[in-house]
Amino acid sequence: MCYKVKMISLQSAIAFKEIISSHSKVMIISHERPDGDSVSSLLSLRELICSINSAEVTLVSSNGVPKAFRFLPGAQNILSDFLCGDFDLVVTVDCGDLRRTGFAGRISKMLDNKVALVNVDHHPKNDLHKLSTLNIFDSSAASATEIIYQLINKLKVQINPNLATMLYTGLFTDTGSFQHPVTTSGVLKAASELLASGAKFKELRQNLTYNKSLPMLKLWGLVLERIKINKYNFAVSVVTKEDMEKIGANEDDLAGVVNLLESIPECCAAMLLVEVEPNVIRGSLRSNKSKIDVSGIAKLLDGGGHPRAAGFTYNGYVKMDKDGWKVL
Ligand code: 5GP
Ligand code: MN
Repeated sequence: MCYKVKMISLQSAIAFKEIISSHSKVMIISHERPDGDSVSSLLSLRELICSINSAEVTLVSSNGVPKAFRFLPGAQNILSDFLCGDFDLVVTVDCGDLRRTGFAGRISKMLDNKVALVNVDHHPKNDLHKLSTLNIFDSSAASATEIIYQLINKLKVQINPNLATMLYTGLFTDTGSFQHPVTTSGVLKAASELLASGAKFKELRQNLTYNKSLPMLKLWGLVLERIKINKYNFAVSVVTKEDMEKIGANEDDLAGVVNLLESIPECCAAMLLVEVEPNVIRGSLRSNKSKIDVSGIAKLLDGGGHPRAAGFTYNGYVKMDKDGWKVL
């Protein structure tokens, strides 16, 4: 049987081990407004690093961990801030670019002060690739945890049920529950191996799939009610901060709803615009069934991501006119 498994090389894994072995105060940081893959990557990388070296490892993700992922072992220890002087190695994971850490200025200063940087990512090439001492990168990986899983296998680290759960969660969430086209035979093989290693699928299902509050579902209802199809055949919807406050929901409650917007067969892509603060719009783009590279659109607005899933943050507001929703 031939599986299409994209490989992180043994050389990269050995280089990773060497750099981890020679540092003792490590900060692992992921992107702001964390998702399942970024939280799982932080937690599983810590497990990997601690199996190599008895380093002090601090996990950081600005904005805190969304409720849905707090069941993951150790999630309560993820900090939303840090002090620069405390580390001799920074590991960025699943970040896309330096700015998405939420601490670009501070990390740049640390690099100026000769702190080493390891970048682990599955986003297309960006500034972190140039800044890093070691770049562990595979843009064809479905999730950052898929890369970490390969490192773990190459370094022959034992996978216990907690670690398997973390790695599986990243795969599960970044593939849209194994539905996006990135769900290759290699991804399913990794998922199968992780289940065999004890990944707690029932717990994950309970926390991610069967854990929708009434306000969350009402918010999803509002998103669906507001869909407009624009002249480019994009399904677009909008939610304001006031909508969320009225319903008693928050931004975390929107996780996953953008995938529903693109289930209309005539639409070539989907976009959800969320007012996260007054005059700050977060955009989420998806294009699973078309050839449109939505990361190109996100880049126009200073964002980024993958061809099939991308995002941006924009200073402005949204307005409806005869052509549908517009970001102004
Ligand atoms: P989401 O819509 O789930 O927030 O993001 C979809 C994908 O786009 C994820 O892979 C995410 O990392 C990436 N992404 C979202 N927002 C940004 C952004 O502002 N900059 C970059 N570089 N990537 C983003
Ligand atoms: Mn990811």
